[in-house]
Amino acid sequence: MFMSKYIDSYQHKGLRKKLVDLLIEKGITDEAVLAAINAIPRHFFLDSAFDKIAYEDRAFPIGEGQTISQPYTVAYQTQLLQIKKMDKVLEIGTGSIYQATVLAEIGARVYTIERQKKLFEAQKNYFFKSKYPNIKFYFGDGFEGLPTFAPFDKVIITAAAPFIPPKLVEQLKVGGMMVIPVDEGDAQRMLRLTKQSDGSMKEESFEQFSFVPMLTGKNG
Ligand code: SAH
Repeated sequence: MFMSKYIDSYQHKGLRKKLVDLLIEKGITDEAVLAAINAIPRHFFLDSAFDKIAYEDRAFPIGEGQTISQPYTVAYQTQLLQIKKMDKVLEIGTGSIYQATVLAEIGARVYTIERQKKLFEAQKNYFFKSKYPNIKFYFGDGFEGLPTFAPFDKVIITAAAPFIPPKLVEQLKVGGMMVIPVDEGDAQRMLRLTKQSDGSMKEESFEQFSFVPMLTGKNG
């Protein structure tokens, strides 16, 4: 069936360029991150009702009480991760797949986990399988990670973590990095943890953000 939602018009491209300019103004400097955001039609990841506002720097509902992260947040987390081509990246919280697609567009091999069955199943459509064969989808509890595919070069958590999940630390390579928003009451502090050769984690602290909670167990 012809799906008008998957048309990327000049208008969409123009709005996307403006979004990229805004992200530059807000301090994003990583050229690969900016190029990925400029290349990916964010309106494909949203209900068609959001078509006209998909390129505003805002989070939007995606069902099941979840949200697609704000573009600034996606850019910020991706920039902190210093993604290189072929990096093996574990993402917790697939949601709309937008963040996973940004990582894949930069050339990472992405393993993404979602705990909401409905969101996991919604991901089995359209252009992903052909355009982004470097994204692999898993239904499960992100606190457990993916031990079968460990170790990872990078780990990104896209929900508010109540604490740093020990199994995700275990599944990170030495020299690898984890970017994680950790609860601080109403907001979360963005942390970047780098695994040292003795197994300890070097911790750097960045801005505050607001995410939906990281929850234990699977739903559905
Ligand atoms: N990266 C997503 C952001 C989605 S919001 C995007 O680009 O759209 C966070 C997502 O994390 C939600 O879909 C939520 O269901 C999921 N989530 C929360 N706790 C989780 C857990 N323990 N394991 C896996 N996914 C989880």
